[in-house]
Amino acid sequence: LKPFVVPILLYHSVSDAPPDWIAPFTVSPEVFARHLELISSLDRQVLSVSQMADRLEASSAWSDNAVVLTFDDGFADMADVVAPALAERGFPATLYVTTGVLSGRRGPRMAHRLPPAATLEWRQLPALEDAGIEIGAHTQSHPALDVLSPAEAFGEVRDCKRYLEDELGHEVRSFAYPHGHHDQRVISMVQRAGYHSACAVKNALSSTGDDRFALSRLTVMTDTPIERFGQWLHGKGAPLGSSRRRWRTRLGRQYRRLAAREWR
Ligand SMILES: [Zn+2]
Repeated sequence: LKPFVVPILLYHSVSDAPPDWIAPFTVSPEVFARHLELISSLDRQVLSVSQMADRLEASSAWSDNAVVLTFDDGFADMADVVAPALAERGFPATLYVTTGVLSGRRGPRMAHRLPPAATLEWRQLPALEDAGIEIGAHTQSHPALDVLSPAEAFGEVRDCKRYLEDELGHEVRSFAYPHGHHDQRVISMVQRAGYHSACAVKNALSSTGDDRFALSRLTVMTDTPIERFGQWLHGKGAPLGSSRRRWRTRLGRQYRRLAAREWR
């Protein structure tokens, strides 16, 4: 059975004046508006990650025109720029929050590992939800989870969920691995902490054959050409990042065969 291809786009900041360290991962509000226009004009169905994960789990009917929008880390422009632009078009999205960078009242303001930037405040999260944005978790301090001790890594995965759930008053269902770093041990922790889905990076197209706990995403960079963005929306211009074993094995075998031919 051929899987449906689903581009899951990964944005960070949408701003005209980002700090240098995040600038390569930032798009201007103008470019972002062009992206949303393209999604509209192609009549794509925009889903949050949990909406996609629910469909994967239920094996429910798919159309081949779905696209998922995600935003990592919790930059202040999420509230000022992104949410209004999405709300204008009625598009949902998923925001993965590093709880340690949020300012305001909740939780211990834990030392985090991201360089300085304007970030969201705790009190802004409910309004983002009201605007149709799912809040997901992205650890407390943004470490590479696969190099922490098991106890530290599990604390990062569990505590950010707890603090967010405390603030929002309901379950937080999705998680994103900082830097995309994950291995089987980290995936097991995310499952044990009670999440229902998790995003990796991989810079590949996701699909209905993807692993619900290591979903493939495409990083939108400041120099991503609009033509490339358009290809992604058509399920092209990037590899298919399927990680269910049967697909990985089959694709891996094909890939090795092709590579061998290439080098001979
Ligand atoms: Zn991040």
